[in-house]
Amino acid sequence: MAEIVDIAIVGGGPAGLTAAIYGARARVNTVVFEAGLPGGQIVSASMVENYPGFPDGVTGNDLADLMFRQAQGAGAEFRTINPVEAIRPDGKQFVLSTPSGDVAARVVILATGAIPKKLGIPGEAEFTGRGVSWCATCDGPLYRDKVVAVVGGGDSATQESVYLSKIATHVHLIHRREELRATQCLQEQCFYNEKITMHLAHTVDEIVGEGGRVKALRLRSREDGSVSDLPVDGFFEFVGIDAMSDLVKDLCDLDELGFVIVDRSGQTSHAGLYAAGDVANYELKQVVTACARGAFAVDHAVRYLNLEFGV
Ligand code: NAP
Repeated sequence: MAEIVDIAIVGGGPAGLTAAIYGARARVNTVVFEAGLPGGQIVSASMVENYPGFPDGVTGNDLADLMFRQAQGAGAEFRTINPVEAIRPDGKQFVLSTPSGDVAARVVILATGAIPKKLGIPGEAEFTGRGVSWCATCDGPLYRDKVVAVVGGGDSATQESVYLSKIATHVHLIHRREELRATQCLQEQCFYNEKITMHLAHTVDEIVGEGGRVKALRLRSREDGSVSDLPVDGFFEFVGIDAMSDLVKDLCDLDELGFVIVDRSGQTSHAGLYAAGDVANYELKQVVTACARGAFAVDHAVRYLNLEFGV
């Protein structure tokens, strides 16, 4: 195999892009492999309000674009629309299989992120793309002057409810408990928003359709078990995330939810394999922590390259 890269970064979200900036600036050969286009999950964030340096907030798309341009400018190489299909160890190195051929890498930084979970209720599969969505920035504009519902009680559900309230006539936020788990300031933005109605202690049992599109949600009260239909035109699910860790499930330790177990420097249980961003098993999943974890991983990886390969 002819080609050997020093650091192969798998995934081009904030963790991967930051790792790329730090790797390129350390002057080691740094290549980012990305299944689609750079940006990761953040591209679907309507607004990022807590990334330092943007007092008025920044759209996820704009922030990702700035990070991508910075990584490219620093000298990182990008191989986009080029999914890594397998990673296998080869002595101290790794071999990455991609549609454009195999590539050997001395170090791999897994930054594949996570994907939104699904509720798995009746009507979900049938009405996906016909009223059921996991991306408010992508599909929200379809609901101008219409009524939508959001399910979930975390940062994503509250943040995207606020975004949707600027487009739709009304937003119903449905959460299974009495308390939301979102950051306090996002909760306040929902509670004080006249266009958002909270349905706490309710679950969505079924998505009801008519004429091939979503028409209502069948809600169940967790207090008294009563069932009622809530008429909506669109339904957005934000009930958590699943780690995209399949590529390394036989290479390193994962936690019980499938997130990659890493130490403080981002090292996995397999030497030379690091993980950063939402795929890794640390608590505070934010853009700023994904970036920091990408930087930590490269910092350690560069020392590892020097020690093990004399790079
Ligand atoms: P999350 O924090 O895991 O919240 C998921 C929510 O969905 C929880 O409220 C949970 O209810 C609910 N839920 C889970 N399974 C459910 C089910 N089967 N039926 C009904 N409800 C269900 O997920 P997230 O909001 O997508 O956020 C993911 C990570 O990204 C978090 O670490 C978050 O802080 C971060 N994030 C940060 C920002 C920001 O800083 N602006 C924005 C978006 C996301 P319970 O509360 O009852 O468990």
